[in-house]
Amino acid sequence: MKRKIIAAALAGMLIFTGCSAEYSVNGTAGGSAGDSSKSSDMAAKDADPMADQAFDRVIYDAMTVPYMSLRAYGQHAEDALIAGEVEIRRLDDLLSTGKSGSDTAKINANGGGVLTPDTAYLTEVSLDLHDSTGGAFDISVYPLMELWGFTSQFEDEAGNTGTVRREAPAEKDIADILTRVDASKIEYDADKGSVVLPDQMRIDFGGIAKGYTSQCIADIFRSNGVTSALIDLGGNIQTVGGKPDGSPWKVALNDRNRGTFLGVVQVKDMAVISSGGYERNFTASDGKVYHHIIDPATGYPADNGFSVDASVSIICSDGTMADGLSTSLYVMGPEKAIEYWRAHSDEFDFVLMTDDDKMYVSEGIEDCFSSDTYKYEIVRR
Ligand code: AMP
Ligand code: MG
Repeated sequence: MKRKIIAAALAGMLIFTGCSAEYSVNGTAGGSAGDSSKSSDMAAKDADPMADQAFDRVIYDAMTVPYMSLRAYGQHAEDALIAGEVEIRRLDDLLSTGKSGSDTAKINANGGGVLTPDTAYLTEVSLDLHDSTGGAFDISVYPLMELWGFTSQFEDEAGNTGTVRREAPAEKDIADILTRVDASKIEYDADKGSVVLPDQMRIDFGGIAKGYTSQCIADIFRSNGVTSALIDLGGNIQTVGGKPDGSPWKVALNDRNRGTFLGVVQVKDMAVISSGGYERNFTASDGKVYHHIIDPATGYPADNGFSVDASVSIICSDGTMADGLSTSLYVMGPEKAIEYWRAHSDEFDFVLMTDDDKMYVSEGIEDCFSSDTYKYEIVRR
């Protein structure tokens, strides 16, 4: 499937993302290019004769699986793409819990330490989110991720290693680890940029790192003079500007791997980031499916109306927040998620799909969201 994505990209047709979105890049899908955007388009072309020329770069992981694709337009695009790839590798080396030299691995091994500016920023945002979400977002769930088998270091009771557990862990083991999960106990010193973790606590930025990475790449693109670009990190989308013709990007939200789309959102300069239980899960021998977004209140996969068959998409100008919020709202479940949005409605918008196929769209994107597949309710402030 992923190889097909690349082939399509190279053919200059539609690009399909890894898991949660599709977007049109050929400008045929309408959009809002009226007279005013035509004239700004002409001005852009005067300034950059290559304004509508696309450059693509696909980034592969260590297993040579493509996991990221970048597209930028214009005369600065090629340089920006190279800088973007360097940034992806830099942040991966810095944040991956699995890389022993990473900031995260060092903090976990030493129970704290002085952080690099990127990790300090992520720690600060994560602790703020922990506060504002009533603990739904908690970077200290990492030992639970290991226990549930959603990390590469997983080893079960029988000594089997691998990336996916086949049975739910024992209740007692979950309860044991849960006593060490509480991000409010992380001591963060903003002046020194240092943290102290309580005994046996370990952290992971898995719920926020992709959004931060796409945000950093967007910033690098902009500082390289790129005004139109699309950054796709495994289905998490960040856009720079609109399409080269001035119309918005059309981002289609994956319908939980059902081969259709929840709908399409049209955006400029926005991140569109989704969380879903369908992304990573396993089926135990009793038939129950367990997914990878853990409710820090219970130690079990979130099950408050968003479980394995749901999805939460966040539309926000800040990719880091979009990613942190998609995970947080997933844990909260639909009612609390809507309540949270009402208190922060000027900061982001959402498309929620519950386990029982109820879809909610926040008022702020009423005019730029559409769905041929589902009826949905607009949630008002
Ligand atoms: P996402 O796909 O953005 O929702 O992120 C899921 C990832 O976030 C998981 O693979 C974990 O690394 C991490 N994670 C899981 N549960 C939580 C939580 N409650 N708070 C913060 N991070 C979490
Ligand atoms: Mg997230």
